[in-house]
Amino acid sequence: IAAVDGLDTPSAVHAFLHIDAEGALETARAVDADRAAGVELPRLAGVPIGIKDVLVTQGLPTTAGSRILEGWIPPYDATVTRRVREARMPILGKTNMDEFAMGSSTEHSGYGPTHNPWDLERIPGGSGGGSAAALAAFEAPLTIGSDTGGSIRQPASVTATVGVKPTYGGVSRYGAIALASSLDQLGPCGRTVLDTALLHEVMGGHDVMDATSLDEPVPPVVDAALEGARMDLTGVRVGVVRELSGAEGGFQDGVKQRFEESLERLRGMGAEVVEVSCPSFEYALAAYYVILPSEASSNLAKFDSVRFGIRVEGATIERTMAATRAAGFGDEVKRRIILGTYALSAGYYDAYYGSAQKVRTLVQRDFDAAFAQCDVLVSPTTPTTPFKLGERIDDPLAMYLNDIATIPANLAGIPGMSLPAGLAPEDGLPVGFQILAPAREDARLYRIGAALE
Ligand code: GLN
Repeated sequence: IAAVDGLDTPSAVHAFLHIDAEGALETARAVDADRAAGVELPRLAGVPIGIKDVLVTQGLPTTAGSRILEGWIPPYDATVTRRVREARMPILGKTNMDEFAMGSSTEHSGYGPTHNPWDLERIPGGSGGGSAAALAAFEAPLTIGSDTGGSIRQPASVTATVGVKPTYGGVSRYGAIALASSLDQLGPCGRTVLDTALLHEVMGGHDVMDATSLDEPVPPVVDAALEGARMDLTGVRVGVVRELSGAEGGFQDGVKQRFEESLERLRGMGAEVVEVSCPSFEYALAAYYVILPSEASSNLAKFDSVRFGIRVEGATIERTMAATRAAGFGDEVKRRIILGTYALSAGYYDAYYGSAQKVRTLVQRDFDAAFAQCDVLVSPTTPTTPFKLGERIDDPLAMYLNDIATIPANLAGIPGMSLPAGLAPEDGLPVGFQILAPAREDARLYRIGAALE
């Protein structure tokens, strides 16, 4: 109860869009009462949590960071929300995000940006900047994020926290407001690898409500985290992805330095570090920015002024729809809808969407070849430490480039983790270390991550 007390105090970080102090306290009190009565409780009972506003929460406002959903209160829970409730975790509230999870800085939120607790002038990453900043500011011990191209891992990197994108299908997407359905994956965010594993266990597992949900148990992530903290890494082969490690330029010196130090520590624990090459990663970002807008333009068609959120009346229903979408969507969302509908239109489909899907296959093959030689692949999570708020807002390409190292994992559906790798010497800001594993081998991330931590 102490942990959720004083929640209503406004914070300069602005990690939360909505705070439910009453609801959280009610859950906390019920857990305390059951504990006092000797009732057996789930492992994380009473541990408060913040939920990214992309997940629907029955009775709690859900906007996905968009003005178009202002005032909408979902009549049902996402599967992950339900699992969090069943785990008896008090829900502190909904965390801020770029509108519909499009962005790398949380500046595209319809409700104002989140600030990085390490330096309030800097971005907390995105799209899940709120979930990461809440952890770094000690406003929540655990949060949930969604990762379509890096929105869990990149915010973790720039706030010195831990974030995991599970294998595609490992966590149900039912009730998660879709950005790009073939890339989206929900995942846990925490301050330690073990905390993150404990939440992964609550969130994961098969769900009949999601047709892409893997029909198998949650990987043994908690055991792996415990094992990683105890055992050395003899026999583990770690592949440094040449194309993602800054060898080709564009990476900040301090990022490269901390990355090299992490490799040294892995070697010190007995791991063998080798270099691997994934040549088609050069085209991954371009392919992603065709596939994502294409899927997003289709997913966002449901915001039509009739079913959810705001409504701006026009003379005809078409005009009402157009006026509502014009008023409700922000610039980045409009940019991507236009890009996506263009890429999918007759005559251009093969040239853009078709080519992008071919690149996607090549990226998957590159990963297969690399994992044939290594147990895990590693890279810096982001090329730079957090940049200043406002610095890239008018330059979409510079903003997109921040995701260069995180996007390939989404194209291939494999799991990835970002964990802190120290502060860059030149600016004293957080650097992230990324670990990638083959599909369904999420446990490896936790083993190596816990060993490094
Ligand atoms: N920053 C990336 C984008 O803008 C990733 C977003 C995400 O993972 N939701 O698309």
